Amino acid sequence: MYQYLFGPVPSRRLGFSLGIDLVPAKTCNLNCIYCECGRTTQLTMERREYVALDRVCEELERFFFDHPAPDYLTFSGSGEPLLHSRAGELVEWMKERFPSVPVAVLTNGTLFTDPQVRRAVGRADVVLPSLDAATSAVFKKINRPHPILQIEEIIEGLVRLRQDYDGRIWLEIFIVPGLNDTKDELSALRDAVVRISPEVVQVNTLDRPGTVRAVRAATLSELQRVVDFWQLPKVEIIARSAAGPEQRVMRRDRESAILETVARRPCTLADLTIILGMHQNEVNKYLGILEKQRKLQSRRQGSLIFYEKIPDR
Ligand code: SF4
Repeated sequence: MYQYLFGPVPSRRLGFSLGIDLVPAKTCNLNCIYCECGRTTQLTMERREYVALDRVCEELERFFFDHPAPDYLTFSGSGEPLLHSRAGELVEWMKERFPSVPVAVLTNGTLFTDPQVRRAVGRADVVLPSLDAATSAVFKKINRPHPILQIEEIIEGLVRLRQDYDGRIWLEIFIVPGLNDTKDELSALRDAVVRISPEVVQVNTLDRPGTVRAVRAATLSELQRVVDFWQLPKVEIIARSAAGPEQRVMRRDRESAILETVARRPCTLADLTIILGMHQNEVNKYLGILEKQRKLQSRRQGSLIFYEKIPDR
């Protein structure tokens, strides 16, 4: 029904958020070891019109004609949305066309060295960049970046964004135990946070198996240790393990479709995306919640992760 929109998905940070996917899977300038969307197949720095803007606008018109307004219109999806060269035009268009709906930009934060990219998000209500490392060695291990990216420049770009941008910045830091939770790295991250001065720092960790097998989720007490170490004023843990039951009700038809499918045979994320005709980010959201509710489980087999019914005891 929609090629570039997904959801609305229930989101702890953004309520019912309608996702807008501006790049084909999996186009990114990073290849993070924890990525829920799988390995980056197009590691690129090229900014271009990956999907036709007119078609995204047409889908948004259609969505608003048929549905109540979501809580947020959110750039996210299967790669880095700010690689789309007309992302800024789309923000402008949405603010004119749907002025009562706030716009959020989920981004890996690597492109704000470019003044054009800082201008592109100028009218967004909130920008949610990630920053998982503040030293080059850890940046390379966790984010496996495009070779021309330098972490010092990325941090400088985020500082510039803070200076140029009037909206809210919610900085997400994804903790990977053994990599970015050492004293040295946490100190460097704290220095970067102080310079960037976001409204809030949101600490997250792996929800479900990531791209690389060895990566594990930080426990709640490990995340709390990070927060205690920083002693910064505005830090919150947003990891799903720290959250109570989801506040928002999921769409029952989506939930049932996923549960009925995995009850028949174990499926990968890619299988479910094709079988159900849903966007992989939407499937991902539901899988996370259903796994937490112990309605299904994941199992790694070789390089693949299968979701399946929990066996009857
Ligand atoms: S930046 Fe986001 S989309 Fe790109 S590899 Fe990392 S987690 Fe995946």
